[in-house]
Amino acid sequence: MSRLIKNILLLGRPGSGKGTVAKKLLRDFNFVHLSTGDLLREQVRNSSVLGLNAKSYMDKGALVPDQIVLDIVKDYYTKLGKDGSPTLLDGFPRKLSQAKAMEVLDIPVDIVISLDIPSAVIVDRISKRYLHERSGRVYNLDYAPPKVPGKDDETGEPLIQRADDKPEVVIKRLEMFDIENNAIIDHYKQSKAVQFNSFTGTETDKIYPFILDWLSTFLQRRSK
Ligand code: AMP
Repeated sequence: MSRLIKNILLLGRPGSGKGTVAKKLLRDFNFVHLSTGDLLREQVRNSSVLGLNAKSYMDKGALVPDQIVLDIVKDYYTKLGKDGSPTLLDGFPRKLSQAKAMEVLDIPVDIVISLDIPSAVIVDRISKRYLHERSGRVYNLDYAPPKVPGKDDETGEPLIQRADDKPEVVIKRLEMFDIENNAIIDHYKQSKAVQFNSFTGTETDKIYPFILDWLSTFLQRRSK
């Protein structure tokens, strides 16, 4: 009998729609969600030593040192992840060193789903994002426009664009992200134990049915 599927990775650039795809996968499959971002934010809320340590990096938008992230991942697998439903890993690994550390920790990766969304699409998506600064309300000129252009629906106050949502900053961020992400992708493409697939397109709703179909077929075959 083939080995059970334990871990599925979801990789995608910032603005690629990874969060939406993760939500849909959790709706359609019996996966457990492991989001290192969520777990880190929880630690920050609890003001734990680990959380306080992580916060200074997260506030700058920088990656948290591997040791901190690996501690929460180890903790997750000790408590819940060993048996039962497969885990959907979202936001981890973010670096090749983290991917390699998973091997040392004996956390096998079975499936890698990579979202390959062109830079122009991401830049366009993000550059249409506007914010009401005081409340944090987010608008998108395409999907969720304000009732009055440039004004917050509730207060009528002006909307702003975050400095790091400006096209030139987004492009720089994508380039930085790609350096590590491409190394991770190459690593998994070379692994015989990993089923890798990359999905490309411009709209999450159009890409998702292909992911669903591919994953369902693969999981069905493996369960036989
Ligand atoms: P996310 O919600 O996945 O965007 O993560 C929010 C923040 O948590 C990131 O900007 C990083 O500071 C930190 N973080 C999450 N996952 C990782 C990871 N695998 N490695 C390093 N830092 C991470």
